[in-house]
Amino acid sequence: MKKILFNLTQPELEQFVTDMGLPRFRATQIREWLNRGAPDFSVMKNLPEDLRQKLNESAQTLPVKIVTRLDSSDNQTTKFLLELEDAQQIECVLMRTTYGNSVCVSSQAGCAMGCKFCASTLLGLKRNLTVNEMFAQILVAQWELRRNRADTEHVHPNGDANNGDVSHIVVMGTGEPLQNTSNVIGFLNRANDELHISWRRITVSTCGIVSGIEELNTWGRPINLAISLHAPTDELRSQIMPINNKYKINEVLKAAFDFSDAQNRQLMIEYILLGKRDENGDVVLYNCSNEHANKLSELLRGHNVMVNLIPWNTVDERDFASISGNAVHRFQDILIKNGIHTRIRRERGADIGSACGQLRLKHKKG
Ligand code: SF4
Repeated sequence: MKKILFNLTQPELEQFVTDMGLPRFRATQIREWLNRGAPDFSVMKNLPEDLRQKLNESAQTLPVKIVTRLDSSDNQTTKFLLELEDAQQIECVLMRTTYGNSVCVSSQAGCAMGCKFCASTLLGLKRNLTVNEMFAQILVAQWELRRNRADTEHVHPNGDANNGDVSHIVVMGTGEPLQNTSNVIGFLNRANDELHISWRRITVSTCGIVSGIEELNTWGRPINLAISLHAPTDELRSQIMPINNKYKINEVLKAAFDFSDAQNRQLMIEYILLGKRDENGDVVLYNCSNEHANKLSELLRGHNVMVNLIPWNTVDERDFASISGNAVHRFQDILIKNGIHTRIRRERGADIGSACGQLRLKHKKG
């Protein structure tokens, strides 16, 4: 198995190069390239060519390797399927937006949570990701952004404020971050410290692990917390999110409101709008009737929240249907009328299957 140099400490890297009969300063040169996200050694132009070849044969740069990538037709979204050292696969998505460059990071290979609308859980949980494996996802995206700038001399519209690098992180890819809380915290500490990504530009999304939300609150950084709620009653939520059998809606929201108050951050509520087909093949509203909108408003009224409405992005293996644009707007109108801040999340990269877990699933099935 090839040695992954990014995982080595600096003394270990120095040992590695001196064992190859090389001077110690090569370790510093290699480290600089690793920290920039170099995908392999052939790009390390300040190393002699024969050394680059030798390194490519015996070592790997990052703990993630790009298996495949898909670019949306508008070029704003790039989805990477990445392979880990033990051949597990994860997804990571780079989104170029008007406010900056955001990376959606996976925190686990697979997921044990079993949400009925999600492709990521279909193959079960394989394992937690390490701090380095999460950090490397940012470096893959960063490399891509810099490579494009070098190719096109394109300056990001945000200019100095953003510098065209990764500016936002959302831990919302494959996996439940709060089942891997200590590594997620380690990763975010590093992203803040080494890449200077501000806490306010970091979002952690959870299906509602109350103990994990409390742990984040104790950690005490002013990040954004997003709760995947997706239903306004325990009865309905338990049907689509098994975690609701352990943590009921009121408990989850109490922990989340406590976090939002303590960290002085607006709470994000994620809500997928799901339809189902009846026996005649017509789409009926599953969790997004007028009554559901009013119930959701009751849960959230008086709190500093933003509801992100997410029209269902079809997953072949899942038994839900998309609802009409009119139904989406009707649901939003009721929330707004009830005084709840609400927006409809723009579908990004629908043409590349950007819904969580779809690329990984397709690849596994061949
Ligand atoms: S929605 Fe999130 S928590 Fe639920 S199964 Fe998918 S990845 Fe896991």
